Amino acid sequence: MTIATHTSDRSAPSAQERLYAQCDPLDYEALLTDAEQEQLRRLRTFLDTEAKPLLADYWERAEFPTQLIQPLAALDLITPAALTANGAAPRSLYEGFRNFELARTDASLATYYNGQSGLFRTTVTRGGNEEQIRRWLPLIDSFEMTGVFALTEPDHGSDIAGGLATSARRDGDRWILNGTKRWIGSAVFADYLAVAARDEADGQVKAFLVKADTPGVELRTIPGKMSLRMVQNSDIELNNVEVTEDFRLARINSFTDIADLLRSMRSGVAWFAAGVQAGAYEAALKYVSERQQFGRPLAGFQMIQDHLVTMLSNLTASLGMVVRLSQQQDQGVYRDQDSAMAKAWTCSRMRETVAAAREVVGGNGILVENHVARFFADAEAIYTYEGTREINTLVVGRAITGRSAFAR
Ligand code: FAD
Repeated sequence: MTIATHTSDRSAPSAQERLYAQCDPLDYEALLTDAEQEQLRRLRTFLDTEAKPLLADYWERAEFPTQLIQPLAALDLITPAALTANGAAPRSLYEGFRNFELARTDASLATYYNGQSGLFRTTVTRGGNEEQIRRWLPLIDSFEMTGVFALTEPDHGSDIAGGLATSARRDGDRWILNGTKRWIGSAVFADYLAVAARDEADGQVKAFLVKADTPGVELRTIPGKMSLRMVQNSDIELNNVEVTEDFRLARINSFTDIADLLRSMRSGVAWFAAGVQAGAYEAALKYVSERQQFGRPLAGFQMIQDHLVTMLSNLTASLGMVVRLSQQQDQGVYRDQDSAMAKAWTCSRMRETVAAAREVVGGNGILVENHVARFFADAEAIYTYEGTREINTLVVGRAITGRSAFAR
């Protein structure tokens, strides 16, 4: 089954390009430059050939395929030379499609990569002063310095803004951190933990780059996850952990500054939600085109087509929303409510889409080897992290009405 779309003036699109067109009927991809598309093609080829064959096995074993980390880093997709001529920064739109491509293959890989390229990098670029950015950014872009973002705590998830309990006490040129963090993704592979902690002196939230092997830091992997099984999430204990002042991110001086980071991070997760839909849709379409019942392919039945249309419509509408969000960000427009709305809405569509994908694959849809099961399960974590639907909805509701409906 094919969907006739993608009238490109480029001659003879490759099979890979036609496949891309199948999940991008309105051709949002055409908004990318040729150079940006070329970077994404390199990523897609790597994911198809090197990553895809490993996914079902590693997902089932709940292990991360660490052998992919170096090759992924070597693709140099954070600041590729082709996109950074004359010191230009890659566009948000390119970064969004990079998240889309990763999540279209696997949500755990996307989460790992974006932990470095999105969460940790954003924390440093928005939170660091000029000297810190100059010192660390090249190392972050090359993965020589890896890190994760540690905000959530066991007793404070949605109410982290007011509740954050990890403490920071200044003692001369040093800070002493105490507290516990929860759910911190890929921390076991990271050199640094970007830890948000409340300054005992002024009660404000600050951020520190804590070397993961500092005395007093203890990581425990959270077992038994049914979603994003490949990602290793950690509980982190911080007991009298010492950090020097030059590892405090100088421009993060309140939770408002943390919220500024979340604005950008949430947009990235909205792109994941679109990518997961694309991956689930493609896997489902392939299956129903091949599987025969009542003497013909499932794809020929009206009710199966109804599901396919719902999936593709959800995906296309989600892409439209995140594309426009990134275009706005490329023009310097960053608003809490925009990224909150995109994150909440695309994740709701994602839940519908992966459920439809699972449904049309029948019993085989719960087998990890058929991919839709992996997308179906992994969607649940994406639905929750970077702010739940309820919390992001409250952010948008506050923007609409001017009234905060948060409990406090
Ligand atoms: P809770 O806050 O306990 O909420 C439970 C439910 O109550 C939710 O449905 C919520 O929406 C609802 N609720 C809460 N308050 C209200 C209200 N006022 N009105 C209506 N409903 C409400 N954090 C990090 O810092 N770094 C990471 O790398 C990271 N990675 C993660 C990876 C995974 C796989 C997961 C699952 C989480 C990760 N998180 C991370 C944490 C994530 O951001 C939190 O799980 C999320 O913010 C929700 O917090 P919670 O789980 O404590 O849920």
